[in-house]
Amino acid sequence: MKSDNKRYITCPFCSLHCDDIQVEVNNNKFKIVSENIKDCTSKIEYFNIKKTSNLTAISKYKKINFNTAINAARKMISRSEDITLVNHGTDVNGVRSLLNFAASHNCVVDHVNSKYLYRNLGIIQRKGYMATSLTETRNRSDVVILFGNNILKKSPRLIDKVILPKHSLCTNLKSRKLLLVGDFDAQSVKIAKKNKHHIENFKIDLNDIPEILTKLMSDDKLSKNLEGIRKIIKKSKYLVASWITSDFDKCNDPDYVISSISDFILSMNQTSRAACMPIAGSLADATSSQTMSWITGFPSRVKFNGKSFFHDRSICDSQEIIRNRNTDLAIHISTVNHNKVELNDKIKNIFIGHINSTFNIKPDIFIPVGNPGIDHRGIMFRTDNVVSVLLDKIREIELLSTQDVMNMLSEVDN
Ligand code: SF4
Repeated sequence: MKSDNKRYITCPFCSLHCDDIQVEVNNNKFKIVSENIKDCTSKIEYFNIKKTSNLTAISKYKKINFNTAINAARKMISRSEDITLVNHGTDVNGVRSLLNFAASHNCVVDHVNSKYLYRNLGIIQRKGYMATSLTETRNRSDVVILFGNNILKKSPRLIDKVILPKHSLCTNLKSRKLLLVGDFDAQSVKIAKKNKHHIENFKIDLNDIPEILTKLMSDDKLSKNLEGIRKIIKKSKYLVASWITSDFDKCNDPDYVISSISDFILSMNQTSRAACMPIAGSLADATSSQTMSWITGFPSRVKFNGKSFFHDRSICDSQEIIRNRNTDLAIHISTVNHNKVELNDKIKNIFIGHINSTFNIKPDIFIPVGNPGIDHRGIMFRTDNVVSVLLDKIREIELLSTQDVMNMLSEVDN
């Protein structure tokens, strides 16, 4: 195998966007060469071409050529009374093209994970909030608390790249402490503990987070376990709290849990330094909210209407619109999603997505597009919104980008 087939890529498949992934590409098949990212290998190699990949367009069950698919989609668009665009993950240019399309067809534009974005944003808007970046956490924190249960599965390299990396600019890494607070499974705890650092796993019901944080900030007598954690927290000079909002889905009141973490961080700042570092979802959530904010001033859930547009987080909730059939055509865009996408069979569905996309029901039209970072170049935003990364192209299978396809679909006579 030739060594010039090896190259580094920036990974588009979760919001950490690691840029140290070495792949080997042969006959358009890529294989991870880096040894330090075992937990992400299958996640990335999932996007290889397989026997089941759809490289051609499909109309329900029938393969059709690309131009026929574009023409059929245009017809559906011109006949539709109301179109809703649902973003399941694409790059900056993809989001721009959604907004261009929406402006000319009076659509709602929403990201499928908007409800998680608004959980964090609600606290910023209502109560005040202090946040930090991945880089600051890596270089300055001395105690990191991870709340939840799936954060390490959804961002597999968070520990290696950010929390307990091999090198850090300012902190003595040997003394950095990691506290896992919540319902982490044995495998996640084992992965975390393979690092030779001080790691405590404090297993609790996620609903109890507010009560436990209140106790930790009090002078009340605590159990031995909690007393140990209080000592670590009280001694910290720069504490960082991190979570993935979807981990609190099953809590009785997810907003209250997140709000309690934010309140805890604010109170820590009276005597030391502390900050929140929420991790965005893995469907290019940060890329969507950043791009939509530049262009419309709102991070998601926007409805275009003639020459203007408005934002309303309830009225423009795409899941509600589709569930209530207040739209007759949904256009789904999905270029980095591993999971099965739920479509509603009571309305028409156009799906513009990567070649290994899966659905609960067949869309009326499926148009394959490339993955940003594999089939075409692109830009995405890291979870902390302070870094945008350039994605490269490593495969030549002549798939168009989301932007190319959305621009073709925009050319409909209204
Ligand atoms: S942690 Fe995320 S960005 Fe990094 S290699 Fe794994 S999937 Fe890709």
